[in-house]
Amino acid sequence: MNYDRILIRYGEMSLKGRNRKHFVQKLKKNIKFILRDFKQIQIQSEWDRMYVLLNGEPAEEVISSLKHVFGIQSFSPAIKTEKNIEAIRAAALEIVRRAHTPGNTFKVSARRSDKTFEYDTNGLNHAVGAHILINVEDIKVDVKNPDLNLLVEIRHDAAYISGQVIQGAGGFPVASSGKAMLMLSGGIDSPVAGYLTMKRGVGIEAVHFHSPPFTSERAKQKALDLASKLAQYSGSVKVHIVPFTEIQETIHKQIPEGYTMTATRRMMLRIVEEIRQRQGALAIVTGESLGQVASQTMDSMFAINDVTSTPILRPLITMDKIDIIKIAEDIDTFEISNRPYEDCCTIFTPPSPKTRPKLDKIQAFEAKVDWSPLLEKAINHTEEVIVSARNQQIAEDTDDFF
Ligand code: ATP
Ligand code: MG
Repeated sequence: MNYDRILIRYGEMSLKGRNRKHFVQKLKKNIKFILRDFKQIQIQSEWDRMYVLLNGEPAEEVISSLKHVFGIQSFSPAIKTEKNIEAIRAAALEIVRRAHTPGNTFKVSARRSDKTFEYDTNGLNHAVGAHILINVEDIKVDVKNPDLNLLVEIRHDAAYISGQVIQGAGGFPVASSGKAMLMLSGGIDSPVAGYLTMKRGVGIEAVHFHSPPFTSERAKQKALDLASKLAQYSGSVKVHIVPFTEIQETIHKQIPEGYTMTATRRMMLRIVEEIRQRQGALAIVTGESLGQVASQTMDSMFAINDVTSTPILRPLITMDKIDIIKIAEDIDTFEISNRPYEDCCTIFTPPSPKTRPKLDKIQAFEAKVDWSPLLEKAINHTEEVIVSARNQQIAEDTDDFF
């Protein structure tokens, strides 16, 4: 008897009364998309849980993909049996035998939503527990801290037996709360900002600025590899790669050195704003953290933010670097971010950018150049790439996740 399904428990979204139906549908669609390579699986959703029916697909691989799905509180590989005590005992014994090493402890945790079942929860705990003790050698009961907690659940349609509760990713199903444009550099912070935003149910498209030949193909690949890590949570991520060389060179020539960084950020934001409108997204996400560098002081943010009234989400704004790095390590982006390739901003960063730029000054400096043809050209030459978690770069024809 093998595990034939994975039982999925919903997370925080179950608190949200009226939105619940929408979240459950979204979660089901996301799970389907993330598991799209497992052709035989089927998904059944109920109001308080979902079942992924394996139909012969490998449980371990499905489990490792499910760990990345936001909106799942926890899940358990399970066996469905008829509602009679013999069948339940047999399935429970099978699960224990598979997990057992001599000297281990266990307990049975029974639950009934079908109150008409012939055994109550205590009766079930004893009936199943006794069967295990008789049939498995060198095993003891420990109700406080067992090595194996055998979950036996009697529902109206059937009984479900499981030996494992796996922690889910939490949060809300991705794209259940609209879409945002993530400004994705090759650094440590922006992928973490993207991850945290996705966790709250926001779908992400990334925008990456590159400046060939000052930045190399490998720097661009780094951003795509980071996007591919984020795609683990959504199935795929669209990346807009903006050619930024000409604008940066113009800034370099036309803007006084102390203000080039401010101007660069403002131009980036103008471009992202235009792409956001075209893509129908509702916010812009950055990896900014207050005080970290010259562009992230209060004065800088005030002067830069001036070019758009679109909400800018800054999930890391109050976080210390050490805590950001912890998350980057957890989501496996840290190593990629640490690759040494240059980033377009580092190359053009002046030795001492102004940490307290003035809005009226930058506006006056910018007014001397007509930027619109340059901005338009960059937007028109923007390349779109869709990356997935597995093969990193995939064709345009993927089902639309959002
Ligand atoms: P990160 O680690 O995310 O690069 P950082 O601490 O190095 O951040 P900056 O380089 O000042 O800080 O960038 C601040 C934010 O601006 C980044 O988090 C990112 O959202 C955006 N950004 C910077 N460079 C780029 C780029 N080349 N393409 C897209 N967005 C960028
Ligand atoms: Mg950076």
